[in-house]
Amino acid sequence: MSGRRISFVIPSYNEEESLDQLHAELHAATQGAGLEIAEILFVDDGSRDGTWAKIQQLSLRDPLVKAIRFRRNFGKAAALSAGFGAATGDVVFTLDADLQDDPAEIPNFLAKLDEGFDVVSGWKRRRHDPWHKVGPSRIFNRMVSWVSGCRLHDHNCGFKAYRREVLDEVELYGELHRFVPVLAHARGFRVSEVVVNHRSRVHGRSKYGFSRFIKGFLDIMTVQFLSRFGQRPLHLLGGIGLVFIAVGVVGLLFLAGLWLLDRGPIGTRPLLPYSALLVGLGTQLICFGVLAELLTSYHIRDVKTYSVADRVGWSRVSPSVDSVEGRDRSSRPPDRGNSDA
Ligand code: UDP
Ligand code: MG
Repeated sequence: MSGRRISFVIPSYNEEESLDQLHAELHAATQGAGLEIAEILFVDDGSRDGTWAKIQQLSLRDPLVKAIRFRRNFGKAAALSAGFGAATGDVVFTLDADLQDDPAEIPNFLAKLDEGFDVVSGWKRRRHDPWHKVGPSRIFNRMVSWVSGCRLHDHNCGFKAYRREVLDEVELYGELHRFVPVLAHARGFRVSEVVVNHRSRVHGRSKYGFSRFIKGFLDIMTVQFLSRFGQRPLHLLGGIGLVFIAVGVVGLLFLAGLWLLDRGPIGTRPLLPYSALLVGLGTQLICFGVLAELLTSYHIRDVKTYSVADRVGWSRVSPSVDSVEGRDRSSRPPDRGNSDA
């Protein structure tokens, strides 16, 4: 891909001491490789130190520096989401502001994108973090890869590169920033990884503790549910509900048989409350599923339920289709909506 422009999105929360060096390293790395920067976009996530003042200084010196400042700390996913919305490059890099990610790796990410991948995630093979982070992280990564089918050694790494199209489709909120590759994979994008040099944190403090793994386990459930059943929740909830009801009904029929054949009292058998409970729970699950379908049907209008890899023949049909979508600068037709999902 020649002539591409690169955006850097850098979530920054109390990182004032690191920004000067990071900014210099980004320029050094891109100049060295002859790359064109679209913007270096800092998102100040409600810092309480001098981060914003530092960013303002940088933007006075360098017209490529752009920045967004949140009113309070909204979290890394929100910061990335704001950055993705504002980035204009063809390739968008995310990297942490704390200098742990080494900008010298940028060409390796681009080389991987050139192999045909849409998302390239960093893999901190040799990590410079305390053991109580590294151990749980291994288990977490194995589990996420296994559950999602998106096989990466290091889902947590903040250093990633995306083709623009990926970010136009993936919505981020909560703490789902760890799962952009998983969400992209679920939409059929090609995801890969490169080994990156990881450096120890020199300035400031880590913002995350052990609790991230617990939240991460819950979040992977959200991600899986959204990507597999987000548009058909009744299939999951109703499916489990029907199984419960079926098992409960078998139990009840068995008890009815005993009663009809006069084989003693059935009111004292544990099978009775268990079967009744299963029928009740199953009915409830189906009701939840129907409610979930109702909610989905309201919001699905705003969601693109499919992902288009390529098109052919459109520019001849209608030359004006290019301008339909603001960000879509190639000769592409509009494909928002869900008519043929
Ligand atoms: N960060 C953020 N908002 C937060 C927490 C973190 O923007 O609420 C940024 C932080 O400034 C850093 C990146 O996210 O640039 C990764 O955070 P950190 O280095 O603390 O994570 P760790 O490397 O310890 O996993
Ligand atoms: Mg860090």
